[in-house]
Amino acid sequence: MKNYIILFFSLLIFFSCEENNSNEINIYSKRHYQVDIKQYENFEKLTGIKVNVIKAGDDELLERLKNEGKNSPADLFVTVDAGKLQKGVEMGLFQQIKSDVIDNNVSDDLKDVNGFWIPITYRARLLVYSNERVEKSELSTYEDLSDEKWKGRLLVRSSSNAYNQALMSSLYANLGEEAVTDWSAGVVGNFARDPKGNDRDQVRSIAAGQGDVAIVNSYYIGLLLSSEKDSDVAAGKSVSVFFPNQAVGDRGAHINISGFAMTKNAPNKENAMKLLEYLTGEEAQNTYVNNSYEYPANPKVLPSEIVQSWGEFKRDKLDLNALGTYREDAIKIFDKTGWK
Ligand code: FE
Repeated sequence: MKNYIILFFSLLIFFSCEENNSNEINIYSKRHYQVDIKQYENFEKLTGIKVNVIKAGDDELLERLKNEGKNSPADLFVTVDAGKLQKGVEMGLFQQIKSDVIDNNVSDDLKDVNGFWIPITYRARLLVYSNERVEKSELSTYEDLSDEKWKGRLLVRSSSNAYNQALMSSLYANLGEEAVTDWSAGVVGNFARDPKGNDRDQVRSIAAGQGDVAIVNSYYIGLLLSSEKDSDVAAGKSVSVFFPNQAVGDRGAHINISGFAMTKNAPNKENAMKLLEYLTGEEAQNTYVNNSYEYPANPKVLPSEIVQSWGEFKRDKLDLNALGTYREDAIKIFDKTGWK
């Protein structure tokens, strides 16, 4: 009997120590936005749980997770592309996230059908056009960008960028290989210049008169318009936002999510779950939309005022895992059609 009592108390001490040890969360992050620091600080104030972040490229982080295996200190992986989350799932790095709170917080069409990752925000890869040189009525779909009327007028960044690879993957999934190859060749033929710079640089180039229409992620327009640099505000004001493929019966604009996955052996799983529940809740969702100008994954929260001013749009309901499934095909098409 005495032995049992000793065993009981030893176990009690063991388990309470386990709980106390875990006062942190380790995140491997591909996201490069200021707002994340603010979110983790707010969460730490609220819960006392410290959030540690290691930042790198997503392929690099996935490789690291694979090499670390069971010994990885990482609890969560966060990135800005469903395709990379899907890649991590295929590599067997994650566990399913089961939480009624998160399930209720986020829109159904943004979720992973297999439950391995969760969205926190989403963004549209949309068109912006020069207020001086383009009429809104001239724009319609992504497909239309291969039309000759855009010769020498299109601006877009390089094909090595994940945002473009996801867009091409979505077109591949929706249109098929042949149509998307022709489309890419047409778009390359319409470039105003060889691809260079980031999304914001494409808008700056429109303002400088180097091209008329650019493909960019939605939140960069919000970031330009709210910038402390006058020249960036002016660049943001020189363009208007256009959501492609909005006609009745058409599929909607291509979107992608920012999302989290839980690592297979997350050492601080309970804390990590608390963070995910917090980040998809109304307070944190408001922090995202008003600082990074992304769209909220939680439909109870409204986008920032700047983003609301563009109006609502229909989003492509393609299974977002397709952005990973067709990635290799998309890259082949870029190469074949000379999209640098
Ligand atoms: Fe970005």
